[in-house]
Amino acid sequence: MILIEEVKRAQQELRKVLGVCDMAVAFTGAGLSTECGIPDFRSMDSAWRRHPPIPFKEFVADSEARALAWRRKFVMDDLTAGAQPGRGHRALAHLLEQGIIGAIVTQNIDGMHQAAGAQDERIIELHGNGGYASCLSCGARHELHEVRPRFEASGLAPECGCGGAVKSATISFGQSMPQEALRRARKVSLDCDLFLAIGSSLVVYPAATLPVLAKENGAALVIVNGEPTPLDASADMVLRGDIGAILEPFEGALKNK
Ligand code: NAD
Repeated sequence: MILIEEVKRAQQELRKVLGVCDMAVAFTGAGLSTECGIPDFRSMDSAWRRHPPIPFKEFVADSEARALAWRRKFVMDDLTAGAQPGRGHRALAHLLEQGIIGAIVTQNIDGMHQAAGAQDERIIELHGNGGYASCLSCGARHELHEVRPRFEASGLAPECGCGGAVKSATISFGQSMPQEALRRARKVSLDCDLFLAIGSSLVVYPAATLPVLAKENGAALVIVNGEPTPLDASADMVLRGDIGAILEPFEGALKNK
């Protein structure tokens, strides 16, 4: 494993690997969005520590837990309202547009890849999207601008017309992953020859099996993150530093690859 901690060199090395790959996949985590003011999960000062998510089992079992989950969700939404995509999102949208990256597999639920202009059909959301809600029984979509005022007026966890519990369309701890998203993510991980893991602590499973899958299938694994991850030792290269600073030049580069 080659460890690079200097921004300029990290940019040069990234340019090299992107220049020679046939198809790269970007696998993104919460660290990509911190520069947009959206806290990541594991950092010590993270707002998630003050408003921890409710595990799925509790959400399903108890209407009080559901109401608490919704209160916390809206607190977090207010904290991040107005967030705009950062340098990393813009760089990845550009690389996607250039065909250098074939897909973005994201653990993020913040919709920032879409906001940066990345084509929706090439974004694979493993943990859902916090921008809307859905019924756990019939799957109907519910818009937050309708759910929120009703919840705030009644204090009661929202229910669907079918009687099912309405939940933010994100995957909670203990909730099974969306199978189609996972299938597509596995496929692009197997098809790529460069797997870029960006801004993830790589400890959330099964998402963190994807870099291993790609690597075992012969892809080069490059990790871009501010701190060590458990997969650093098996990576070809680790670019350790600020994600926005490392990815910034790729917002408009590589056009003539
Ligand atoms: P994580 O919080 O476990 O890890 C983020 C990593 O990014 C950490 O190692 C941190 O050191 C690093 N990091 C943060 N800011 C950085 C920066 N500017 N430059 C370089 N490195 C930086 O995130 P995860 O692995 O994605 O797992 C968190 C889970 O929580 C995910 O499943 C996700 O669904 C959810 N989550 C999503 C969001 C979001 O959508 N933005 C935010 C918080 C949590």
